[in-house]
Amino acid sequence: WAKDQGKGSVAVYDPTRHAASLERLALQNELTRAVEEDELVLHFQPTITLASGRITGFEALVRWQHPERGLLPPSEFVPAAERSGQIVALGGWVLRAACRAATDLQRPDGPVSMAVNVSADQLASPLFLDEVRGALEDSGLPGHLLTLEVTESVVLGDVTAAAEALSALRALGVSVAIDDFGTGYSSLSYLSRLPVDILKVDKSFIDKIGAEGHADTVTLAILEMSRTMRMVTVAEGVETVEQASWLSERACGVGQGYYWSRPVPLDQARGLLGPPSEPTAAAEPEPVTAA
Ligand code: C2E
Ligand code: MG
Ligand code: MG
Ligand code: MG
Repeated sequence: WAKDQGKGSVAVYDPTRHAASLERLALQNELTRAVEEDELVLHFQPTITLASGRITGFEALVRWQHPERGLLPPSEFVPAAERSGQIVALGGWVLRAACRAATDLQRPDGPVSMAVNVSADQLASPLFLDEVRGALEDSGLPGHLLTLEVTESVVLGDVTAAAEALSALRALGVSVAIDDFGTGYSSLSYLSRLPVDILKVDKSFIDKIGAEGHADTVTLAILEMSRTMRMVTVAEGVETVEQASWLSERACGVGQGYYWSRPVPLDQARGLLGPPSEPTAAAEPEPVTAA
């Protein structure tokens, strides 16, 4: 039987690997608890329409208020949830919570949209369309105020299937955004085959604005292409006034980044919008001093 003991055929006990799989299992159990016990929280980062300088939307970004480890960023648990399939349940929670928050953030002086990140397994799920419809109905948020963000890798696997799923979602009125645009394989041909409303130019391009090299030219080309395809361009990760003015001078539609605000809890997001305006008081003319 020595022949059967060739390379890799023997299950040698590997304590490191055993520990790692136990850890994975523990994290999976904890994540299930997190979704069920409401340990997840959303933070909201504003998106600014550059022409007016006003907040016209927010992106919902999930965090985990872990009982022992504190507030965890998505990088600590979203990839694991994607591997285990738990992202479908987690993403469903995010979707409902984000739609409720969006209803809360509406102001009489202009609509506020809400963007939600969507993973591959969610988009591929036959239940997703109903989940989105349900989240809109339960919250009362009009479909046109919801944006679903998918990365290039989510749509590139099976472009035809992705196009079908996105078209059905769009029939609910929701917008579709390509997130982190430019970081994936960026096969431009897929773009024309997909119903996309918004391109979010990845931070790595924005970082290079004003620097040596061709980064500016590439960002300009993306802006130009986006315009031609009648998509709205969102610049991600804007951190400096130089970047913000460079973008607004080149008619980039929307900006998002620490320059305006980090992602913040809902009460602070309300604060960023200012108090609900009182149209009558605001419309009142300045008092005349002399009679
Ligand atoms: P993303 O969707 O591209 O979100 C943008 C990320 O960049 C956020 O990190 C945000 O805080 C950060 N960011 C925004 N502006 C700036 C800036 O000016 N400078 C810097 N350095 N960073 C900036 P966050 O919240 O840690 O999220 C990371 C990623 O996790 C997201 O990238 C998204 O891919 C994923 N994610 C977050 N929430 C969800 C969710 O609910 N579902 C899924 N599937 N993924 C999510
Ligand atoms: Mg995003
Ligand atoms: Mg992004
Ligand atoms: Mg990004």
